[in-house]
Amino acid sequence: MPSMQIHRILQSQGFGSRRESRALVRSGLVAVDGQVIDDPFAEFEPEGFAFTVDGEPWEYRAKAYLMLYKPAAHECTRKPEFYPSIFSLLPEQLAERGVQPVGRLDQDTTGLLLLSDDGQFIHTWSSGKKKIPKRYRVELKHAHTPELIDALLGGVQLHDEPAPIAAAAIEVIDATHLWLTITEGKYHQVKRMVAAAGNRVEGLHRHSVGGLALPEVLEPGDWAWMTDKHFAALA
Ligand code: URA
Repeated sequence: MPSMQIHRILQSQGFGSRRESRALVRSGLVAVDGQVIDDPFAEFEPEGFAFTVDGEPWEYRAKAYLMLYKPAAHECTRKPEFYPSIFSLLPEQLAERGVQPVGRLDQDTTGLLLLSDDGQFIHTWSSGKKKIPKRYRVELKHAHTPELIDALLGGVQLHDEPAPIAAAAIEVIDATHLWLTITEGKYHQVKRMVAAAGNRVEGLHRHSVGGLALPEVLEPGDWAWMTDKHFAALA
């Protein structure tokens, strides 16, 4: 990769406009290997480039791919109406560089949410075309019945859909909890499917997307960069 001026590197990583990034370098807050770099035009090889901004370590990434443990009472939009935005849980730089959620979870849904600024990645992993399994732990208002499970596996008609939609898999946890896998990503899909089958979702938690499960080390509200291991699991 050709070398880049440090203010350009900072700009690409979401540290502000070109002007703001130059000012940040000139302010003496940017360091490499503990050495302050105050020349915005100093050049570095961006691949694997590690630096600190006001003591905070950062590493250059051409694209950002991350996993968030979405907590309840957070909205997946930048301009939330009723609850804080999920972006309030991330460093400002990530929102600044255009990171977006890969699909959305409802404000009361918890669990694994992927985010990226790679448009192709977002499209691939949020589109229904690829039939990516998404596994949810569903809490039901009423105990499930064989009829409910048959209806969900056989396909239920949702109001604005041309054809019935079926769950890809269901495993019973206990009387009021199920693991439910869907391969589409329609608006309120799980809640609407369960309602169409005559019950009601009281709690929803996304455990996995593709083969990637929410890492156990993450607590609600925590996020982490995706590593090669996570990409391999996702596919
Ligand atoms: N289905 C829903 O109803 N809500 C979600 O947040 C995700 C899937």
